[in-house]
Formats: sequence, C-alpha cells, structure tokens
Amino acid sequence: NVDEEYPLQVEGLCKTFGGITAVDDASFRVERGTLTGLIGPNGAGKSTTFNLITGMLRPDAGTVTFDGEDITGQKPHAIANRGLVRTFQIARELQEMTVLENLMLAPKDQRGEALWRSVTPGFRGDVVEQEEELLERVWDVIEFFDIDHIADEYAGNLSGGQRKLLELARALLTDPDMLLLDEPFAGVNPSLEKRLLEHVHELREQGYTFLLVEHDMDLIMENCERVIVLHQGQVLTEGSPDEIQANEEVIEAYLGG
Ligand code: ADP
Ligand code: MG
Repeated sequence: NVDEEYPLQVEGLCKTFGGITAVDDASFRVERGTLTGLIGPNGAGKSTTFNLITGMLRPDAGTVTFDGEDITGQKPHAIANRGLVRTFQIARELQEMTVLENLMLAPKDQRGEALWRSVTPGFRGDVVEQEEELLERVWDVIEFFDIDHIADEYAGNLSGGQRKLLELARALLTDPDMLLLDEPFAGVNPSLEKRLLEHVHELREQGYTFLLVEHDMDLIMENCERVIVLHQGQVLTEGSPDEIQANEEVIEAYLGG
C-alpha cells in the first residue's frame, strides 16, 4: 500500500510570488521511517515547499497527501493535528518563559487549543489529571534530550544549540508521526549537532519519519537514507546518497548555480 509506505506524497506542487516561480511542478514522496534529505542550491524552493506542505502557504496547483488524506490548503493547526509537524523558531513572547513552561505550552500552541482539548480524553472535570499527564510527558522529553539542568532557564537565555533542542522537543510534544526540519543545525556547535543528530536517529528508529533541509552536504550524505534534489523549484532527481553524489546533473546544478 503506497499510502502506508509513503506517508507524505507531493504531486505537481506549484507556487509563484509575483513573477518569481518558487516551486514549479514538484512531485516527490517520503518513505515512512526514513530520514530523507531535501537539498538544493539557495533559492531552489526548499523552504517554500515546506510552507506549502505544512499549510503556511497555499499552492497555486498540486496536492499534498499525508497518510492517504488530501491535506492541500488545510490550516497549519489542522495539519499538525494529523501528525505532520515542523519545527518553529521560539517566538519572542515564549523567550520570556522557561524551558519547562515552553514545553508545557507546546501541544496547545502548535496544534491549537480546541484540537488539543478534543484529543485529550475525559474533557472538563479532569483538568488537573490532564496537566499531570502532560507534565509527565514533558519530563520524559526533557530527560530524552538531557536538558533537565536548563528546565528553569528562560528560553531567551539559551545558546543557539540549546534553542534548537528546545524547538525539536516542542515539536515532539505535539505527538507527531512526521517531522519537517528546516536547517535545524544552523548556529549549533559541533558537539551539540552530534547529539541532536543522535536524537534524530533514535527517533527514526522508533518509527518517526523525517524530512530534513540542510545545506551541509556531508551531513546529508552521512545521515540520510534518501535524498531529494530541488533545483529552480523542480525535483532534479531523487536517490540514495551514493546515487546523488555520482549524479552529473546534481554536480552541475550546484556548481553552475
Ligand atoms: P530555499 O529555501 O531553497 O533557499 P525559498 O523557498 O526560500 O528557497 O525561495 C525560493 C524562491 O522564492 C526564491 O527566489 C525566493 O526569493 C522566492 N521567495 C520565497 N518566499 C518568497 C516570498 N514570500 N515572496 C517573494 N518571493 C519569495
Ligand atoms: Mg530556505
């Protein structure tokens, strides 16, 4: 079954901004349980593609299918509620809250208050119980990422790398099936990058699916099972890291600009 094997399927996606074609009839799919890289030169349309998939932008044409359902044009909260989640930079108002508070708010924040209530069983009476249950999940995530020593730190005081950990932790607390990461290692020091990658691999082994935009080609080739190459808004090719590295068109797209 194609829908089971490929939770995310993108077909004929198009998006223009004024006269600029950012995404031009892009089609690809992402295999379940893989860490798949989405690469391409600057301006290739990677971030726009993410925005189209997660409902931040509406495509001019094309469809996005997630777990067999057409989610094209749905609101970000609705898409997140289905289990397709992207990481976000910590908003300004959240920087004045602690790491723990940020994590406690994450499910409501990303999935929407109403949806959050509806996915939480035993509505009304059991608010205290729900909060306790959430706190337990939050501490599991805090331990998983080994960030208990900064739980009471204000998010605004974190280093760039710690902030990336928090962003990933927040996304995980929405209980996703698939995560889209747009340059999650930008500004992260090498040792923290290594740890972050280990977490991603561990989560992948647990069954999560990842689509990763990253400009560091070595990182992509060493860590991804599959790689999709975007060039001028189109899918140039798709394959294993070995296939991609040996592909003349890919080499030309990067060198030729
Ligand atoms: P990438 O993430 O691969 O670097 P983007 O998706 O950010 O590429 O951008 C693709 C193209 O679309 C670029 O030419 C960019 O300038 C343009 N673009 C992206 N977002 C907008 C926007 N909101 N308004 C106008 N042009 C945009
Ligand atoms: Mg980008």
